Amino acid sequence: MWNGDALLEKLYEEAVARHRNETKAGHLNERKPKLKAALREAVGSFDSNIGHEPKLLERVECEGYIRERVELSATPGLTFGAYVLIPKNADGPLPGVLALHGHGYGSREIVGLLPDGSADEGKPGIHQHFALQLVKRGLAVIAPDVIGFGERRLLADLAVNPDAPSSCFRLSTQLMMLGKTLTGLRVAEALKAFDYLASRPEVEGGRVGAMGFSGGALIAYVSAVLEERIQSLVLTGFTNTFRDSIFAVNHCIDNYTPGLLQHAELPELIGLAAPRPLFLESGEKDRIFPVDGFRKAAAVIKAIYEAEGAGAELETDVFPGAHEISGRKSYDWLKRSLAASGPSL
Ligand SMILES: [Zn+2]
Repeated sequence: MWNGDALLEKLYEEAVARHRNETKAGHLNERKPKLKAALREAVGSFDSNIGHEPKLLERVECEGYIRERVELSATPGLTFGAYVLIPKNADGPLPGVLALHGHGYGSREIVGLLPDGSADEGKPGIHQHFALQLVKRGLAVIAPDVIGFGERRLLADLAVNPDAPSSCFRLSTQLMMLGKTLTGLRVAEALKAFDYLASRPEVEGGRVGAMGFSGGALIAYVSAVLEERIQSLVLTGFTNTFRDSIFAVNHCIDNYTPGLLQHAELPELIGLAAPRPLFLESGEKDRIFPVDGFRKAAAVIKAIYEAEGAGAELETDVFPGAHEISGRKSYDWLKRSLAASGPSL
């Protein structure tokens, strides 16, 4: 046979058959910790920068909330900026959300700013200024700048092209050669931002969730699997099977984690968040995370939640739209879910 299509198909089928056998063999209790460990190992780890002190860079009074810019560091030699949005006139400590953007110009895109930091008065893009939507609902939000975008593009890429859309390729390839992944680095930084938000006096540390869009949802689900203190999770524009999304369409290289399919398909990995509340959102015209794959994945995740007695904790919304955030149900769901989670007041 000249072509490799059949080979890829065979290898894929063999991998998922192995997963099925392990699941069926009655080893479910063993499989979950094993998969978590495999995911942690596959994305790789980074030394942590325990001694780094957060630095306040800016504090701006906005309508209904305060917007701070802070500098954090998850690993030695690398700092990052994050916006912290705190609703004004809060009555006691607030629930919080780790808000993770996808491909674009960085955290400014979700807090209502243009790339140059000025206010974005126009129609929001596919990220829908979602951090603002959450702070308006009374949630404290942290929006870290995901490495590879906006001001966190590499100087090496900007030297070649000042308009380079991202540094995903250079970061991913070089980290993979070191047995690490860009997902691992992004998750380490996201978890640092989560810790920082949970430690803020305005925030009730036991009521912090995460919401991510597209590549941000990849970071959000891995973060939630690795950090059990993440109470609730919203994934939008991402949930799918590997086969229907990152194997079917040319995706950014940051979506590929060496060896991961040896362990599980994506729905089972997302299902590791069970039994914590999970909301899955997808546009019915999303061309890069197609809705058919979303529906297949959601069915698998539903079965996992039901098997753990947590069927009621999973909600989904397929909205009329493309690769974008809707929020028509998920924002309020996240608020309700965080109000109900954690230690009672
Ligand atoms: Zn990318």
